[in-house]
Amino acid sequence: MANQDNIQDILENTLFSEADIHEMCTRLGKQLTEEYAGKEPVLVGALTGAIYFMTDLSRQMDVKCKMDFIDVSSYGNGTESSGKVKLVKDVSTDVKGKDVLIIEDIVDTGHTLKFMKDHFMELGARSVKCAALLNKPSRRVDDVTVDFYGSEVGNQFVVGYGLDFYGMYRNIPFIGIVKPEVIQAYAN
Ligand code: 5GP
Repeated sequence: MANQDNIQDILENTLFSEADIHEMCTRLGKQLTEEYAGKEPVLVGALTGAIYFMTDLSRQMDVKCKMDFIDVSSYGNGTESSGKVKLVKDVSTDVKGKDVLIIEDIVDTGHTLKFMKDHFMELGARSVKCAALLNKPSRRVDDVTVDFYGSEVGNQFVVGYGLDFYGMYRNIPFIGIVKPEVIQAYAN
């Protein structure tokens, strides 16, 4: 990645390699294939962070399904949730009576996931569950269930495989931990 060779300057270390991510998608895909056997769920990817996870996970699911995207924002441009969740773009699929599976990159405070789960219940979905690649339970504020997830992570800010740092580095194929001093420097 010649144009992103400075990525190592902002990373403390690699947390999940491409092989680790593939293993998580395969394992979750099997679980979800069982979960949705005989059903026709609507897979809803949360933009923008879940784009790679949505495409990789859905191809590991042997399930007849529809796919759509929702865009909700709470982060602005930084690394801390503002706590105020805003619907930027809704799904175009009618989810009334449907089984909705929200696909998220990471669940942190839980504000975003709670907002999306409540939203789809209000739209009349039959069930609403979430598959997240990563789960940060130590940071949870809202009481919300992450029904399926690839791995737990600690209280660290991670980047890559869809996850951004100030809008950048989403297209790094692995996941790394951003150095705390770099987060500090950007915040100032
Ligand atoms: P929550 O509402 O649960 O606090 O935050 C959910 C969203 O915050 C995620 O979908 C993701 O976009 C962003 N987020 C939370 N933790 C991280 C992190 O460690 N790295 C990155 N890049 N984004 C994060």
